[in-house]
Amino acid sequence: MTATTPVRFPTSILIGEDSITDASGGTFDHVFPGTGKVNAVIPMAGEEEVDRAVRSAAAAQREWAAMPVGQRRDLLLALATAVRAAADELGELNVHDYGVPVSMASGTAGLLASFLEYYAGWIDKATGQTAPTTHNADVNMIDREPYGVVGVIVPWNGPLVGIGMAVAPALAAGNAVVIKPPELAPMAPIRFGELCREVGLPPGLVNVVPGGPAAGEALVRHRGIGKIHFTGSGAIARQIAIAAADTLKPLSLELGGKSANVVFADADLDAAVMIAAFMGPITQSGQSCACGSRILVERPIYEEFLERLVQAVAHVPVGDPLDPSTVMGPVISQAATDRILGAIGGAVASGTGRLLTGGNRLGGALAGGYYIEPTVFADVPNASPLAQVETFGPVVSVMPFDTEDEAVAIANDSDFGLVAYAHTREFARAHRVARRLESGSVWVNTYSDIQPSGPYGGYKQSGYGRLGGIEGLHEFTQVKNIRIALG
Ligand code: NAD
Repeated sequence: MTATTPVRFPTSILIGEDSITDASGGTFDHVFPGTGKVNAVIPMAGEEEVDRAVRSAAAAQREWAAMPVGQRRDLLLALATAVRAAADELGELNVHDYGVPVSMASGTAGLLASFLEYYAGWIDKATGQTAPTTHNADVNMIDREPYGVVGVIVPWNGPLVGIGMAVAPALAAGNAVVIKPPELAPMAPIRFGELCREVGLPPGLVNVVPGGPAAGEALVRHRGIGKIHFTGSGAIARQIAIAAADTLKPLSLELGGKSANVVFADADLDAAVMIAAFMGPITQSGQSCACGSRILVERPIYEEFLERLVQAVAHVPVGDPLDPSTVMGPVISQAATDRILGAIGGAVASGTGRLLTGGNRLGGALAGGYYIEPTVFADVPNASPLAQVETFGPVVSVMPFDTEDEAVAIANDSDFGLVAYAHTREFARAHRVARRLESGSVWVNTYSDIQPSGPYGGYKQSGYGRLGGIEGLHEFTQVKNIRIALG
């Protein structure tokens, strides 16, 4: 990737061997968040294309399931190699898709490749079980089979990671997939679909149908889909659960969070401040499901922590995501800008906490794009909307606590339970607190680091199901019990 070789914008719907540019869902004017200007026109899949994609996937799945395991493993490894080779290109597409800074963007392709490698490794190793029965002469086998065609609906804020976490295990388990990327970030997922073709996966094994809510709902309602994996917001997950009720379709849901980051007085303060800044307002401008947006700090270090956090975020370079020196880019859209500034304005108007830094949209050369200053509120009551509603922007709430019990109680006082962070040098407390926090992942003295081997998913309204690890492979299988009488 260089400034002199601009990346090609892939915009076709990919179904089987066809690349479709004229689709029943019309077109979408895709806007680059860095400038607020249209940078691509995307054909939108409607019900018709979704139906074609599901049929094409069903045919490819039969071919895939019949293929020797070693060949399937090698094809997924070849795909991982192709993704790594295209990491810069995919990263740059991510920048144009959703405004993530180029300094961070190609890492998402690397993580996608890691998921493909990890799950390729399971293909020839996953085994079933047998169990005794009351009739000793029976063979009682417990096997796992693919669902057939899996629909994968991904969010805009990390579509390649979402694909890695769900598509890699779905394929490894023997399924075909129809990926519905969001209209806000379709291009890197389409390029991924092209790579699937280029490495020789059976045509139709991976179909990519960019579209909006109508395409998503058509996928969820389709009778040819065996399972839906959805990553996105709780609000849309509820609509999906209602649509899925018609066919009683199984779902796995990776949803939002309002994650607590608990800093004890004995913590390594330098590390805790950097993690609070980067896993708070900075990384992806706070538009991350794992954003540590509620920072709980033990009272003896509270004021010093606030001072250091404000210093850390104030010095972060905010700007054009295509500039390699940029660490923090824009938020996704005008609508997101209005929502985030509304949450900040609402907190200020209601006297919620103290606004220590940020709170404004950036102007000057950045006025056309959707840039919001990293924003820190102190003394935020945990019951306030600022501390309870996912802002999905560069805004964090800091609050003091006096005891371990109080910290755990505040951290758990949330409808969400996706991730939690804790910082302490005390070994026993690290274990105690990690066990008491009501969330699917707990990161102690470290940052959010999604790994293929670590099952990731939510407690409470952060969703259900797990991606990553053997749990992630099982997520895309259904259990069959086969009993054969021998006597
Ligand atoms: P969103 O819920 O608005 O949209 C997600 C996807 O659903 C998009 O592809 C969208 O087109 C599609 N969709 C919209 N309406 C639909 C319908 N009626 N039926 C089917 N599909 C429909 O979420 P978003 O704004 O793209 O992403 C942000 C949210 O995702 C945040 O809440 C964030 O925390 C969450 N998220 C969670 C994880 C995780 O792993 N837990 C990862 C990334 C993002």
